[in-house]
Amino acid sequence: MQIVCLDLEGVLVPEIWIAFAERTGIPELRRTTRDEPDYDKLMKYRLAILAEKKLGLPDIQEVIGGLEPLPGARQFIDDLRERFQLVILSDTFYEFAMPLMRQLGYPALFCHRLEADASGMLVNYHLRQPDQKRESVKAFKSLNFRTIAAGDSYNDTAMLAEAHAGILFCPPDNVVREFPQFPVTRDYAALMARIVEASARIGE
Ligand SMILES: [Mg+2]
Repeated sequence: MQIVCLDLEGVLVPEIWIAFAERTGIPELRRTTRDEPDYDKLMKYRLAILAEKKLGLPDIQEVIGGLEPLPGARQFIDDLRERFQLVILSDTFYEFAMPLMRQLGYPALFCHRLEADASGMLVNYHLRQPDQKRESVKAFKSLNFRTIAAGDSYNDTAMLAEAHAGILFCPPDNVVREFPQFPVTRDYAALMARIVEASARIGE
């Protein structure tokens, strides 16, 4: 029994906050964990900006509904799902991801959630649990799955290390340098080839 765990943003869809900042013309929303390492501070900052601009969940979802998965992503996961169980492990929020998940055929998605008030304004966020990507892989292992994980960034490296096989996909150069133990792929054909190769190596 093998399961593939894929990151979402930067692997199957664009970075949602950045795309949202571009579509809405609110450059302050481009701020990421690279600029503000304290995630709680960053999220409170983002929610405050959305409130200030009077953007509620329906407005946000409309913008995100106009985004598209990365070219070839749908075909890639359709091919993957013919051969493997697939779960998307992401640090995004269901409320943001759903318009994009529709275009990916609704694969299973484990992520976090946002809380809106009666008028649709976002008032809080709720993490599933700390370090949920790694904890999910651990849980799949306890269910006797052999695990293959792929992602593009720092927040994926713990899950890649926890999995029986970890693969980087289109990572930034600093991640490649700091994590030389993971093979690097830069397109879906190469990622599929690495997954199939890992599948044969890690056993059933
Ligand atoms: Mg990512």
